[in-house]
Amino acid sequence: MTFAHRVTGLEPEGAYAVLARAQALEAGGSDIIHLEIGQPDFPTFDHIKQAGMDAIAAGQTRYNPPAGLPRLRELIAADAGVRRGVHFRPEQVVVGPGAKPGLFFPTLALVESGDEVIYPDPGFPTYSAMIEVAGGTPIPVPLREENNFSFDLRVFDEWISDRTRLIILNSPANPTGGVIPLQDLEHIAAAALKHGCWVMSDEIYSRLAYDETPVPSIVSLPGMAERTIVVDGFSKTYSMTGWRLGYAIMPEALAERVSLLLTHSIGCTATFTQIAGIEALAGSQGMVDSIVAEYQHRRDRIVKGLNNIPGVHCRMPQGAFYVFPNVKALEISSRELARLLLDEAGVAVLPGDDFGRNGEGYLRLCYATSVEDIDRALERIAAVLS
Ligand code: PLP
Repeated sequence: MTFAHRVTGLEPEGAYAVLARAQALEAGGSDIIHLEIGQPDFPTFDHIKQAGMDAIAAGQTRYNPPAGLPRLRELIAADAGVRRGVHFRPEQVVVGPGAKPGLFFPTLALVESGDEVIYPDPGFPTYSAMIEVAGGTPIPVPLREENNFSFDLRVFDEWISDRTRLIILNSPANPTGGVIPLQDLEHIAAAALKHGCWVMSDEIYSRLAYDETPVPSIVSLPGMAERTIVVDGFSKTYSMTGWRLGYAIMPEALAERVSLLLTHSIGCTATFTQIAGIEALAGSQGMVDSIVAEYQHRRDRIVKGLNNIPGVHCRMPQGAFYVFPNVKALEISSRELARLLLDEAGVAVLPGDDFGRNGEGYLRLCYATSVEDIDRALERIAAVLS
């Protein structure tokens, strides 16, 4: 069978492949601790679930406008604007089933065949996939551990040019948990303005930041609102991964184009899901604060435990719910190490190179799981590596 060129290079997300293998081992009776999939272990908060169920019971199960319910777009514009210190209009907001459409469709709307797109390596695998589908030329820029996993700005400066159409940023980041500091954002913004490129800022983990670390957004820097797409959503902040609800905020003219892509692809996002999203934003934020405190506790525990294992060195990440320990001293590829940990320790983790070439020598562990499981996983990893 032959396929269009744009899909031939697509690969599955590594997390799903490891999950499938882990589940096969479980089916054979193994006890597996899951640190591979990046999703909250907390259930969706009760008041949000109730709003969704009430909406279904009230018959809110029909088509709605492709860019989202007006009330939800208003709430998103207000909430996202206040958090970033900028003014967004509801017309700039495009709602979709998850944050992924907010990444994919603006890329399709902006990137022509051959346009260069800068993105972080290691980074979320969807970035390279969507660049490829859009026909763009992927330009991975390394994130450096010694730089708290922010861009290597020297390499960035070498690669950015008038051929660059789009720069993708992710802060706090998957897989590293790194937060891009303001001075780096200022450097990137100056380059984007100089070369006239767009910036896509994936801020899906913006509420999951620890130690009161500020998480600045490039959209709030002078001149950037006209060229930035902010991507965020409900999956991580409100434990709503399976509801599929996210959004992107962008200049209105681009939002209109992206809405047309939505019209002709997904049609619209489920009405009752959006009503649950309205409750998430309009209701109490107390649960978000308490899960962030709990993630911070787990982060401290897993980082300390990993650093007690000879050959493993783990930086303290400032956001998201991932750690990205350096395992280069163990002198085994991350892929072999991940396989060994799954087979011998029953701990499912991801090899760093699932996130790009510069992820080799690292593992990604998601600590959105119970403290008991974190402790058990650490014990098992230490035993196997010793
Ligand atoms: N962006 C990043 C960096 C992510 O890690 C994820 C999910 O893992 C997404 C976007 C996608 O979010 P959603 O599930 O809301 O589509």
